[in-house]
Amino acid sequence: MAPHLRYSFLLLTALCFLLRLIAAAEDGDADPIYKGCVEQCEKTGCVGDRCFQHCKFSSDGKPVDGPWYMHEPLYLRWKQWDCRTDCRYHCMVAREEERTKLGDKPVKYHGKWPFRRVYGIQEPVAVALSALNLAIQFHGWVSFFILVYYNLPLRPDKKTYYEYTGLWHIYGILSMNSWLWSAVFHSRDVELTQKLDYSSAVALLGYTLILAILRAFNVRDEATRVMISAPLIAFVTTHIMYLNFYDLAYGLNVKVCMIMAILQLLIWAVWAGISKHPARWKLWLVVVGGGVAMFLENYDFPPYKGYVDAHALWHATTIPLTFLWWSFIRDDAEFRTTSLLKKVK
Ligand SMILES: [Zn+2]
Repeated sequence: MAPHLRYSFLLLTALCFLLRLIAAAEDGDADPIYKGCVEQCEKTGCVGDRCFQHCKFSSDGKPVDGPWYMHEPLYLRWKQWDCRTDCRYHCMVAREEERTKLGDKPVKYHGKWPFRRVYGIQEPVAVALSALNLAIQFHGWVSFFILVYYNLPLRPDKKTYYEYTGLWHIYGILSMNSWLWSAVFHSRDVELTQKLDYSSAVALLGYTLILAILRAFNVRDEATRVMISAPLIAFVTTHIMYLNFYDLAYGLNVKVCMIMAILQLLIWAVWAGISKHPARWKLWLVVVGGGVAMFLENYDFPPYKGYVDAHALWHATTIPLTFLWWSFIRDDAEFRTTSLLKKVK
Protein backbone atom coordinates (compact mmCIF):
# COMPACT_ATOMS: atom_id res chain seq x y z
CA MET A 1 0.00 0.00 0.00
CA ALA A 2 1.16 3.54 -0.71
CA PRO A 3 2.05 5.42 2.47
CA HIS A 4 -0.69 8.01 2.17
CA LEU A 5 -3.24 5.25 1.56
CA ARG A 6 -2.03 3.41 4.61
CA TYR A 7 -2.41 6.59 6.64
CA SER A 8 -5.94 7.16 5.45
CA PHE A 9 -6.72 3.53 6.23
CA LEU A 10 -5.31 3.95 9.74
CA LEU A 11 -7.26 7.14 10.17
CA LEU A 12 -10.43 5.41 9.04
CA THR A 13 -9.95 2.51 11.49
CA ALA A 14 -9.25 4.98 14.28
CA LEU A 15 -12.39 6.89 13.33
CA CYS A 16 -14.48 3.71 13.27
CA PHE A 17 -13.07 2.74 16.65
CA LEU A 18 -13.89 6.16 18.05
CA LEU A 19 -17.41 6.03 16.62
CA ARG A 20 -17.91 2.60 18.18
CA LEU A 21 -16.68 3.95 21.50
CA ILE A 22 -19.17 6.82 21.27
CA ALA A 23 -21.89 4.35 20.28
CA ALA A 24 -20.96 2.15 23.24
CA ALA A 25 -21.17 5.17 25.51
CA GLU A 26 -24.62 5.90 24.09
CA ASP A 27 -27.57 6.12 26.42
CA GLY A 28 -28.97 2.91 27.82
CA ASP A 29 -32.48 3.91 26.74
CA ALA A 30 -31.50 3.07 23.15
CA ASP A 31 -30.83 -0.54 24.21
CA PRO A 32 -33.48 -2.79 22.55
CA ILE A 33 -33.73 -5.05 25.62
CA TYR A 34 -34.46 -2.03 27.84
CA LYS A 35 -36.93 -0.60 25.30
CA GLY A 36 -38.76 -3.93 25.04
CA CYS A 37 -38.91 -4.18 28.83
CA VAL A 38 -40.48 -0.72 29.20
CA GLU A 39 -43.01 -1.38 26.42
CA GLN A 40 -43.98 -4.71 27.97
CA CYS A 41 -44.21 -3.17 31.43
CA GLU A 42 -46.49 -0.33 30.32
CA LYS A 43 -48.89 -2.97 28.93
CA THR A 44 -48.78 -5.53 31.74
CA GLY A 45 -47.70 -3.35 34.66
CA CYS A 46 -45.00 -5.81 35.62
CA VAL A 47 -41.22 -6.19 35.37
CA GLY A 48 -40.32 -9.81 36.04
CA ASP A 49 -42.44 -10.73 39.07
CA ARG A 50 -42.77 -7.11 40.31
CA CYS A 51 -46.03 -5.37 39.44
CA PHE A 52 -47.11 -1.76 40.02
CA GLN A 53 -50.45 -0.38 41.14
CA HIS A 54 -50.06 2.62 38.84
CA CYS A 55 -50.16 0.54 35.69
CA LYS A 56 -53.66 -0.91 35.96
CA PHE A 57 -55.21 0.33 32.73
CA SER A 58 -57.65 -1.29 30.35
CA SER A 59 -56.96 -1.16 26.60
CA ASP A 60 -58.61 2.30 26.18
CA GLY A 61 -56.38 3.87 28.83
CA LYS A 62 -59.04 3.94 31.58
CA PRO A 63 -58.23 2.41 34.95
CA VAL A 64 -59.64 -1.05 35.53
CA ASP A 65 -61.02 -0.31 38.98
CA GLY A 66 -61.26 2.45 41.59
CA PRO A 67 -63.80 5.14 42.63
CA TRP A 68 -65.09 7.93 40.31
CA TYR A 69 -62.31 10.43 41.08
CA MET A 70 -59.78 7.96 39.80
CA HIS A 71 -61.42 8.29 36.37
CA GLU A 72 -60.62 12.01 36.16
CA PRO A 73 -58.42 12.80 33.13
CA LEU A 74 -55.79 14.72 35.12
CA TYR A 75 -55.53 12.02 37.75
CA LEU A 76 -55.28 9.43 34.99
CA ARG A 77 -52.42 11.26 33.37
CA TRP A 78 -50.60 11.35 36.70
CA LYS A 79 -51.15 7.63 37.08
CA GLN A 80 -49.95 6.89 33.58
CA TRP A 81 -46.94 9.09 34.15
CA ASP A 82 -46.18 7.29 37.42
CA CYS A 83 -46.54 3.97 35.62
CA ARG A 84 -43.99 5.07 33.03
CA THR A 85 -41.40 6.25 35.57
CA ASP A 86 -41.82 3.07 37.62
CA CYS A 87 -41.43 0.93 34.50
CA ARG A 88 -38.39 2.88 33.35
CA TYR A 89 -36.77 2.63 36.78
CA HIS A 90 -37.31 -1.09 37.31
CA CYS A 91 -36.36 -1.97 33.73
CA MET A 92 -33.19 0.07 34.20
CA VAL A 93 -32.33 -1.73 37.45
CA ALA A 94 -32.98 -5.12 35.84
CA ARG A 95 -30.94 -4.23 32.74
CA GLU A 96 -28.06 -2.84 34.79
CA GLU A 97 -27.95 -6.01 36.91
CA GLU A 98 -27.65 -8.10 33.75
CA ARG A 99 -25.00 -5.78 32.39
CA THR A 100 -22.85 -5.89 35.55
CA LYS A 101 -23.01 -9.72 35.47
CA LEU A 102 -21.60 -9.53 31.94
CA GLY A 103 -18.89 -7.17 33.18
CA ASP A 104 -20.26 -4.09 31.36
CA LYS A 105 -19.91 -0.60 32.77
CA PRO A 106 -23.00 1.46 33.73
CA VAL A 107 -24.61 3.61 31.02
CA LYS A 108 -26.93 6.59 31.23
CA TYR A 109 -30.70 6.23 30.82
CA HIS A 110 -32.62 9.23 29.50
CA GLY A 111 -29.55 11.37 30.19
CA LYS A 112 -29.08 10.26 33.80
CA TRP A 113 -26.87 7.68 35.47
CA PRO A 114 -28.60 4.63 36.98
CA PHE A 115 -29.24 5.73 40.58
CA ARG A 116 -30.73 3.48 43.22
CA ARG A 117 -33.86 4.78 44.89
CA VAL A 118 -34.27 4.77 48.67
CA TYR A 119 -37.92 5.02 49.84
CA GLY A 120 -38.79 6.33 46.40
CA ILE A 121 -36.17 9.08 46.59
CA GLN A 122 -34.23 9.20 43.34
CA GLU A 123 -30.85 10.49 44.55
CA PRO A 124 -30.88 10.07 48.35
CA VAL A 125 -27.28 11.22 48.87
CA ALA A 126 -27.79 14.45 46.92
CA VAL A 127 -31.03 15.10 48.83
CA ALA A 128 -29.34 14.60 52.22
CA LEU A 129 -26.42 16.83 51.22
CA SER A 130 -28.76 19.54 49.91
CA ALA A 131 -30.61 19.49 53.23
CA LEU A 132 -27.31 19.73 55.09
CA ASN A 133 -26.26 22.66 52.91
CA LEU A 134 -29.55 24.37 53.71
CA ALA A 135 -28.95 23.85 57.44
CA ILE A 136 -25.40 25.26 57.22
CA GLN A 137 -26.68 28.27 55.26
CA PHE A 138 -29.34 28.88 57.88
CA HIS A 139 -26.78 28.59 60.67
CA GLY A 140 -24.45 31.03 58.90
CA TRP A 141 -27.22 33.50 58.28
CA VAL A 142 -28.48 33.41 61.87
CA SER A 143 -24.98 33.83 63.29
CA PHE A 144 -24.44 36.82 60.99
CA PHE A 145 -27.77 38.29 62.09
CA ILE A 146 -26.85 37.94 65.78
CA LEU A 147 -23.41 39.47 65.21
CA VAL A 148 -24.54 42.60 63.38
CA TYR A 149 -27.68 43.33 65.44
CA TYR A 150 -26.65 42.20 68.93
CA ASN A 151 -22.87 41.96 69.27
CA LEU A 152 -21.75 44.94 67.22
CA PRO A 153 -22.71 48.55 68.03
CA LEU A 154 -25.63 50.01 66.06
CA ARG A 155 -26.07 53.49 64.62
CA PRO A 156 -28.36 55.92 66.48
CA ASP A 157 -31.12 55.08 63.93
CA LYS A 158 -30.80 51.36 64.91
CA LYS A 159 -29.20 50.49 61.57
CA THR A 160 -25.93 48.58 61.34
CA TYR A 161 -22.66 50.36 60.61
CA TYR A 162 -21.85 47.60 58.16
CA GLU A 163 -23.04 48.75 54.73
CA TYR A 164 -23.68 45.31 53.26
CA THR A 165 -26.06 43.87 55.86
CA GLY A 166 -29.14 44.01 53.62
CA LEU A 167 -27.28 42.51 50.69
CA TRP A 168 -26.12 39.53 52.76
CA HIS A 169 -29.65 38.97 54.05
CA ILE A 170 -30.89 38.64 50.48
CA TYR A 171 -27.98 36.31 49.78
CA GLY A 172 -28.94 34.10 52.74
CA ILE A 173 -32.57 33.88 51.60
CA LEU A 174 -31.70 33.18 47.95
CA SER A 175 -29.21 30.45 48.84
CA MET A 176 -31.58 28.72 51.27
CA ASN A 177 -34.27 28.87 48.59
CA SER A 178 -31.95 27.29 46.06
CA TRP A 179 -30.93 24.43 48.42
CA LEU A 180 -34.57 23.74 49.18
CA TRP A 181 -35.37 23.26 45.46
CA SER A 182 -32.18 21.28 44.98
CA ALA A 183 -33.39 18.80 47.63
CA VAL A 184 -36.82 18.61 45.99
CA PHE A 185 -35.36 18.16 42.51
CA HIS A 186 -33.01 15.35 43.57
CA SER A 187 -35.83 13.48 45.28
CA ARG A 188 -38.12 13.63 42.24
CA ASP A 189 -36.83 14.69 38.86
CA VAL A 190 -39.73 16.02 36.77
CA GLU A 191 -39.89 19.06 34.50
CA LEU A 192 -41.40 21.32 37.17
CA THR A 193 -38.87 20.48 39.90
CA GLN A 194 -36.05 20.78 37.38
CA LYS A 195 -37.22 24.24 36.32
CA LEU A 196 -37.50 25.37 39.94
CA ASP A 197 -34.04 24.04 40.78
CA TYR A 198 -32.38 25.58 37.71
CA SER A 199 -34.16 28.92 38.12
CA SER A 200 -33.28 29.35 41.78
CA ALA A 201 -29.65 28.32 41.16
CA VAL A 202 -29.33 30.84 38.30
CA ALA A 203 -30.93 33.57 40.43
CA LEU A 204 -28.48 32.84 43.26
CA LEU A 205 -25.43 32.80 40.97
CA GLY A 206 -26.49 36.05 39.28
CA TYR A 207 -27.06 37.70 42.63
CA THR A 208 -23.71 36.56 44.07
CA LEU A 209 -22.00 38.02 40.99
CA ILE A 210 -23.63 41.39 41.70
CA LEU A 211 -22.63 41.05 45.36
CA ALA A 212 -19.01 40.30 44.42
CA ILE A 213 -18.84 43.44 42.26
CA LEU A 214 -20.48 45.67 44.88
CA ARG A 215 -18.30 44.44 47.74
CA ALA A 216 -14.97 44.21 45.90
CA PHE A 217 -15.34 47.69 44.38
CA ASN A 218 -16.68 49.07 47.64
CA VAL A 219 -19.87 50.40 46.07
CA ARG A 220 -21.79 52.00 48.92
CA ASP A 221 -23.82 54.59 47.08
CA GLU A 222 -27.42 53.46 46.45
CA ALA A 223 -27.71 54.95 42.94
CA THR A 224 -24.47 53.33 41.76
CA ARG A 225 -25.56 50.00 43.21
CA VAL A 226 -28.80 50.15 41.22
CA MET A 227 -26.94 51.16 38.07
CA ILE A 228 -24.56 48.20 38.33
CA SER A 229 -27.13 45.58 39.24
CA ALA A 230 -29.89 46.60 36.81
CA PRO A 231 -28.31 45.16 33.61
CA LEU A 232 -27.24 42.00 35.44
CA ILE A 233 -30.71 41.49 36.91
CA ALA A 234 -32.19 42.02 33.44
CA PHE A 235 -29.86 39.41 31.96
CA VAL A 236 -30.50 36.84 34.67
CA THR A 237 -34.27 37.38 34.45
CA THR A 238 -34.19 36.92 30.68
CA HIS A 239 -32.17 33.73 31.03
CA ILE A 240 -34.60 32.32 33.63
CA MET A 241 -37.60 33.18 31.42
CA TYR A 242 -35.88 31.54 28.46
CA LEU A 243 -35.29 28.33 30.45
CA ASN A 244 -38.86 28.22 31.80
CA PHE A 245 -40.95 29.30 28.83
CA TYR A 246 -38.85 28.61 25.76
CA ASP A 247 -36.22 25.90 26.08
CA LEU A 248 -34.84 24.14 29.18
CA ALA A 249 -31.44 23.93 27.45
CA TYR A 250 -29.06 22.10 29.76
CA GLY A 251 -25.87 22.88 27.80
CA LEU A 252 -26.62 26.58 27.48
CA ASN A 253 -27.50 26.85 31.15
CA VAL A 254 -24.22 25.20 32.17
CA LYS A 255 -22.31 27.71 30.04
CA VAL A 256 -24.14 30.72 31.50
CA CYS A 257 -23.65 29.43 35.05
CA MET A 258 -19.97 28.67 34.46
CA ILE A 259 -19.30 32.17 33.12
CA MET A 260 -21.06 33.82 36.07
CA ALA A 261 -19.23 31.54 38.55
CA ILE A 262 -15.78 32.07 37.01
CA LEU A 263 -16.32 35.85 36.87
CA GLN A 264 -17.12 36.12 40.57
CA LEU A 265 -14.32 33.76 41.58
CA LEU A 266 -11.92 35.97 39.61
CA ILE A 267 -13.26 39.15 41.22
CA TRP A 268 -12.88 37.71 44.72
CA ALA A 269 -9.42 36.28 43.93
CA VAL A 270 -8.10 39.60 42.62
CA TRP A 271 -9.66 41.48 45.52
CA ALA A 272 -8.18 39.03 48.05
CA GLY A 273 -4.84 39.54 46.31
CA ILE A 274 -4.72 43.32 46.41
CA SER A 275 -6.80 44.28 49.46
CA LYS A 276 -5.40 44.29 52.99
CA HIS A 277 -8.51 42.60 54.34
CA PRO A 278 -7.71 40.76 57.62
CA ALA A 279 -9.78 37.71 56.59
CA ARG A 280 -8.51 37.50 53.02
CA TRP A 281 -7.09 33.99 53.57
CA LYS A 282 -10.67 32.75 54.03
CA LEU A 283 -11.56 34.30 50.68
CA TRP A 284 -8.58 32.57 49.11
CA LEU A 285 -9.65 29.21 50.51
CA VAL A 286 -13.23 29.65 49.27
CA VAL A 287 -12.02 30.68 45.80
CA VAL A 288 -9.63 27.70 45.50
CA GLY A 289 -12.20 25.32 47.00
CA GLY A 290 -14.90 26.72 44.72
CA GLY A 291 -12.67 26.19 41.69
CA VAL A 292 -11.95 22.57 42.69
CA ALA A 293 -15.65 21.98 43.34
CA MET A 294 -16.52 23.36 39.91
CA PHE A 295 -14.04 20.95 38.35
CA LEU A 296 -15.67 18.08 40.25
CA GLU A 297 -19.12 19.07 39.01
CA ASN A 298 -17.93 18.76 35.42
CA TYR A 299 -16.06 15.48 35.94
CA ASP A 300 -18.87 13.08 35.17
CA PHE A 301 -18.58 9.48 36.43
CA PRO A 302 -21.17 6.75 37.10
CA PRO A 303 -22.48 6.75 40.69
CA TYR A 304 -20.46 4.65 43.11
CA LYS A 305 -22.62 1.68 44.26
CA GLY A 306 -25.51 3.49 42.57
CA TYR A 307 -25.44 6.32 45.12
CA VAL A 308 -22.53 8.78 44.99
CA ASP A 309 -21.78 10.61 41.74
CA ALA A 310 -19.77 13.74 40.90
CA HIS A 311 -22.77 15.99 41.45
CA ALA A 312 -23.34 14.59 44.97
CA LEU A 313 -19.64 15.10 45.78
CA TRP A 314 -19.97 18.66 44.56
CA HIS A 315 -22.84 19.20 47.00
CA ALA A 316 -20.58 17.77 49.74
CA THR A 317 -17.73 20.23 49.05
CA THR A 318 -20.04 23.23 49.32
CA ILE A 319 -20.76 22.39 52.99
CA PRO A 320 -17.31 23.37 54.42
CA LEU A 321 -17.06 26.18 51.85
CA THR A 322 -20.39 27.66 53.02
CA PHE A 323 -19.23 27.46 56.62
CA LEU A 324 -16.02 29.31 55.77
CA TRP A 325 -17.91 31.79 53.60
CA TRP A 326 -20.24 32.95 56.37
CA SER A 327 -17.24 33.16 58.69
CA PHE A 328 -15.64 35.53 56.17
CA ILE A 329 -18.86 37.58 55.99
CA ARG A 330 -18.88 37.93 59.80
CA ASP A 331 -15.22 38.98 59.77
CA ASP A 332 -15.99 41.51 57.07
CA ALA A 333 -18.85 42.97 59.12
CA GLU A 334 -16.58 43.30 62.15
CA PHE A 335 -13.73 44.76 60.11
CA ARG A 336 -15.90 47.40 58.41
CA THR A 337 -17.68 48.33 61.64
CA THR A 338 -14.46 48.85 63.64
CA SER A 339 -12.80 50.88 60.89
CA LEU A 340 -15.93 53.07 60.52
CA LEU A 341 -16.05 53.63 64.30
CA LYS A 342 -12.38 54.64 64.31
CA LYS A 343 -13.15 57.28 61.67
CA VAL A 344 -16.03 58.64 63.75
CA LYS A 345 -13.86 59.08 66.85
ZN1 LIG B 1 -27.86 19.32 42.66
